[in-house]
Formats: sequence, structure tokens, C-alpha cells
Amino acid sequence: MVLVAVAGVSGCQKPGVPPTEVEGSGITIRYEAPAGSDRDDAAFLRRRKVVEEAASAVAALAEVDRPISVGVVSCDGEGSSYDPELTHVEVCYDEVSETRELFRRASPRRADDDVAAVMLETLFHETAHALVDIFELRVHGREEDFADQFAALMLLRKGITGEQQLLAAAEAWHLSEVTNEDVDDGPDEHSSDGQRAVNYRCYVYGTASGRHRGLVSPDALPAERAKGCTKEWNAVRASWMTALAPYLRKG
Ligand SMILES: [Zn+2]
Repeated sequence: MVLVAVAGVSGCQKPGVPPTEVEGSGITIRYEAPAGSDRDDAAFLRRRKVVEEAASAVAALAEVDRPISVGVVSCDGEGSSYDPELTHVEVCYDEVSETRELFRRASPRRADDDVAAVMLETLFHETAHALVDIFELRVHGREEDFADQFAALMLLRKGITGEQQLLAAAEAWHLSEVTNEDVDDGPDEHSSDGQRAVNYRCYVYGTASGRHRGLVSPDALPAERAKGCTKEWNAVRASWMTALAPYLRKG
């Protein structure tokens, strides 16, 4: 992966480092100066190069013919998002510490790797919205589920490491479900956090059931669901690859 400096700042005039482009990809990344409370999270993301990894992986898969900008910003709890007006993905520093806290409450010793994995999943999810928008993809089912499926696709393409990362994301969704049970946000366009966790586990099991037999349990991945996961994952992967077929990089 090669990053090159890009002259000028599009869309955002707040202070921070100049944007860089993943070379030849049309994807630019800009780290906005973090608010004081976000400094450690910003340092973590810079050190782990999670944003760069996501951008490079997407650029290696598909030729994006409209620029996508990725802003890494202080959002004050607003959550990561995609803005179709600007083809702009925004990722929040504070999601690093929110995720860390989620894992910490479940287990006092949690590796940074899992936090980085969840951030990578978030980036792929938001980038999926950008791809749906730019390529005008036909979405099967809900776009939010389709975006989760893209995150799964991008992680599982990495093999065993990606399987572990997708399982970390599944655990984060599971923990989010159990720790927020008193909060009723009402229906929204996403599947519930618990459903998202089970979906991710199903995809991991579907891609490599032999390695992940331990996932099958009433709490993690019910046996009834597990039975269909290979077929389900193959269908999910095929629907994304078919949708992206005209835009895939050759060779
Ligand atoms: Zn979304």
C-alpha cells in the first residue's frame, strides 16, 4: 500500500493532518485533529493503520470511479456514518474507547487486536454504503444487512485472521446487545445487535465450519441456524461478488 499526499482539503476545513490518497484508488483519508478526550483513540487508529488497511483492501477489490473521502473525526458519540452528498465516510475516534470499554466489562484483559478488528468492520460497513451509492448497486434485503455482509466478505477474504476479526466484531455486537438491554431505541433499519452477532458467526461458520465447530451452541450460533450457514454464506458472498462484477479489478 502506498499513500500519497493530496493537495487541498475537500469538504472539511477543520484542522488536522492533510489528506492522503491510497495511490490510484480515489480513496482519500484524513485524520482530523482529535478533541482532547479522543487523543488516545486517535493515536491507536494511526498506529494500527486500520483506516489505511480498509481503504487499500477496498481499492484492491474494486475500481471506484468516484472519489470516496474518509474522515477520521471527533464525533461526540454520534457514530460512524456515510454521507451520500459528499461520498464521505466518517469514522469516530470515540468508537475505539467505546469498543474497548465493551470488551473490558466482559473480560479485564482484552487485546488491542479485537478493538482494531471492530473498527475495521465498521469501516468496511460504512464503505459498503459508499459502494452501493456510487455503483448504484441493487440491494437484496435491507441495505444495513447488505453492508454488514460486505464487512464479512472483506474480513473473510483475509482467511484465518479475518475469521478471528469477524468473530471479534460478532462478540462486540453480542456485548452491545446484552449491555444495552434496558435501552429501547425502537425499530430502525438495522438488524438488532444480537442478530448481527449471530449473522457474523454464521458467516464464519459457513466459510470454515471445521475450524469453528465450537461456535455452535444455543447462545452463540444455534444448531438449527448453523446447518444452513455454508449455503447462506455462499449466497451472501455470491450476491456481493455478482453486484461488484463489473467493477472488480482485473488480475
Ligand atoms: Zn450502515
